[in-house]
Amino acid sequence: MRSAVILAKEAGFVAAPPPAGREYTLSDRRTISEYFLQLYCSARRAHGNPDRTEFIWLDEFCLSDDNLPPDEDIVSAQRSTELSRLADIFRRAAHVVVFCHEENCDHTGLACIWGQRLFTIPEILHAQDVWQLTRRCEPNGMTAQLFPVPAHKFREKMKINAERGENWHLHAVLQHSDHGGAVAGDVVLHALVTEAIRRDEAGGFRDHEFLGKVLNGLLPRRARLADLGNGGWEDLAWLLELNQGSYDATILAAECSLADVGHEGVEWLGLPIAPRPGTERCTPLAIAFPVFSESGVPLAIHGQVVNFTTPQRDLNGLYTNNDMKGVRNLVWTIAVIFLTISALLWLSGQYTASKIIYIVTAMLYRIVELLAGTIYLVRSGWVFLEDAQWGRLGNLDPTLHNLDSWGDPQCSPQWRPSGRRPYFTAKLVDLRRRVYVDVIVVSRPTSMVLVASHGSGVTAILTSPHADPNQRRIGAARKAGMCHLPMYIREEAVESDPIYIGTLTSSDSP
Ligand SMILES: [Zn+2]
Repeated sequence: MRSAVILAKEAGFVAAPPPAGREYTLSDRRTISEYFLQLYCSARRAHGNPDRTEFIWLDEFCLSDDNLPPDEDIVSAQRSTELSRLADIFRRAAHVVVFCHEENCDHTGLACIWGQRLFTIPEILHAQDVWQLTRRCEPNGMTAQLFPVPAHKFREKMKINAERGENWHLHAVLQHSDHGGAVAGDVVLHALVTEAIRRDEAGGFRDHEFLGKVLNGLLPRRARLADLGNGGWEDLAWLLELNQGSYDATILAAECSLADVGHEGVEWLGLPIAPRPGTERCTPLAIAFPVFSESGVPLAIHGQVVNFTTPQRDLNGLYTNNDMKGVRNLVWTIAVIFLTISALLWLSGQYTASKIIYIVTAMLYRIVELLAGTIYLVRSGWVFLEDAQWGRLGNLDPTLHNLDSWGDPQCSPQWRPSGRRPYFTAKLVDLRRRVYVDVIVVSRPTSMVLVASHGSGVTAILTSPHADPNQRRIGAARKAGMCHLPMYIREEAVESDPIYIGTLTSSDSP
């Protein structure tokens, strides 16, 4: 439609003020479609008998308009149904004509605006025969030509361009569409879902109103159209619940960044990270699947958890720190000397002097022990530190001044914060091995739920307690952020009860 609008504007078309909630009036939409149809017919004339009838599904222009009288609800329902059937409409089409207004564009490149849209996926994935409609600048003005091409050849060229542009998700989807079996089923479904989300976000549809409708018909199991009415992440989560026999949502949960506000029931979903060398391999470490709840579609996770500890003074600091070795040996030597003197005095009958030396030695030893205990922190477990606390860590324990970082050198995934939700940066610190990890969170987490082996490390969902005590009681937790950790974290994790990322109704308690 956007390209048709440009055709119309080039011809001098001026739009009337639109009704509320629409970009154009119905009359203007019809006029815009005529500009496109004239261009199509001018190109089509060269192919076969020019005097014939064709039935054309003209994309956006053929969807029922929300503002049509008489019964708006019925019309909206019809539009919703049509959107859910796009995959079927284009699958059954005799020819699919691909068009954008850019000059000399064959529409197979990543830069073509047609190929960037969410709805393009169902349009092309199962098309039987493709006609490329391309504009050309001729001496007598701008013209258009049709180039018929078998659909598999068109997709092959799209695939080559996806490979050149390193869009590996699109590449996997196209590879599978004409060479079934060349890519594992799970990988294709993950690529399809991820590519759909990415396109929706890139198109500015951050609420993902049509995401479920577009994917319905492309995934192995389809939802009843009546169940895909709400839009947003909820529709996607419901589709994934239906398709859990074919697709493990654990992988998606491991790749999703933080969701926007207003999706508490499905907050394990968000914009997935793009494949990056080093982290493309993602293997589930937990059993996780979306579950239906009247409050949303939370992700149930059965797996391992690492709980954060709070930094505590190490009362055994004199004995547990190697850099106390010199002090420890000196104190022990002095103590042995004084205790020997005390024993000799006792044997020579000077009991009072012996007792005084013994008590003073014991008191001084205890004082040194206590002083050493104020210098160090207990070296065990992981702590969560906001940036302000992080700056003070070296003051709390001098041995924690210089820590090793885990992140970029290990090609860790980079989850993006949601621009519409307040967030802050913080660090996770492994006190035992003196390693830290940078994280972005929306709340203070209390534990890490290990979900996948991801590249060279382990990906975990940072969780914080639910504000509602009933939700906490039935195992629901909030997603505070994502993190990537060294592989050894698995040794420190413990099996946990089922955790639900999202919100459950009380009657759904496990
Ligand atoms: Zn194009």
